[in-house]
Amino acid sequence: GDFINEHNVDNIREDYQIGKVLGTGAFGEVRVCTHRKSGIKRAVKILKKNFLKEEEQKKFFHEIEILKKMDHPNIVRLYEVYQDHKRYFIITELCTGGELFDQIIKRPYYSERDAAIIMKQVLSAVSYCHAENIVHRDLKPENLLLDSDGSGAIIKVIDFGTSQKYDPEKKMHQTYGTPYYIAPEILAGEYNEKCDVWSCGVIMYILLCGRPPFDGQTDDEILENVSKGTYKTDSAVWKNVSKEGLDLVQKMLKFDPEKRIASKDALSHAWIKNLTEGINVDQ
Ligand code: ADP
Ligand code: MG
Repeated sequence: GDFINEHNVDNIREDYQIGKVLGTGAFGEVRVCTHRKSGIKRAVKILKKNFLKEEEQKKFFHEIEILKKMDHPNIVRLYEVYQDHKRYFIITELCTGGELFDQIIKRPYYSERDAAIIMKQVLSAVSYCHAENIVHRDLKPENLLLDSDGSGAIIKVIDFGTSQKYDPEKKMHQTYGTPYYIAPEILAGEYNEKCDVWSCGVIMYILLCGRPPFDGQTDDEILENVSKGTYKTDSAVWKNVSKEGLDLVQKMLKFDPEKRIASKDALSHAWIKNLTEGINVDQ
């Protein structure tokens, strides 16, 4: 039967009190909500049914199917799905620290240690996804949330609306992603899961120097620079980045996906290992 109906609980408002808006996305809004019985606060993504085209509805069901199977400390946990006649409600764990994006724009750039603590968590989530043959396809700082305020916050990957279960023997062809972070092979029309590693490389580059590797005044200009795949690491900031840090960025931003480092190898790269030793960021 219909997936949503199987998990339908009659009235979300009996179980949850819905509160203030946390963020808005392409298809609706996300609000904080409180589980009445336990008092626990969670997040609820609300989508209006009459706003969803059939294609978007499919994507949304798909996001739920994938999130349901995910079990990783750096991937947002899905609790329940509700519906009423007008809306769908997805209940997930609440990330009160907001988007990594908002942290990034608050400072010029990150220390290598702080950047490594973030990248370890992102790469841990991504290599878990790839081991499960799931490609995310829209990794970016807007889709990386912090579970709490303060320095020990844990990163949670969200937004599996563009993710897909893939066959490792086959290439993918649909275009998904966001200009600054999209891999050149997606633009060229044929790619595999290594497109996520590219996006991680872009994120790491931004953390280390405070600017995107592929920039422009317009989306078209950014995409043109992505297609060329050339980026600079000769500014003053990069002079202070370690050899290992530069090595990992270069391995993740390798133009040819066949030569690009795999997510699990990036996770065990010396830069990550050395800078995050003794730090527990994945519980
Ligand atoms: P879309 O698929 O429409 O982009 P997202 O799932 O990315 O929707 O959510 C949109 C925004 O809502 C996020 O960028 C974030 O600011 C906020 N948000 C989403 N999920 C949570 C959560 N679990 N906790 C806190 N804020 C969230
Ligand atoms: Mg989003």
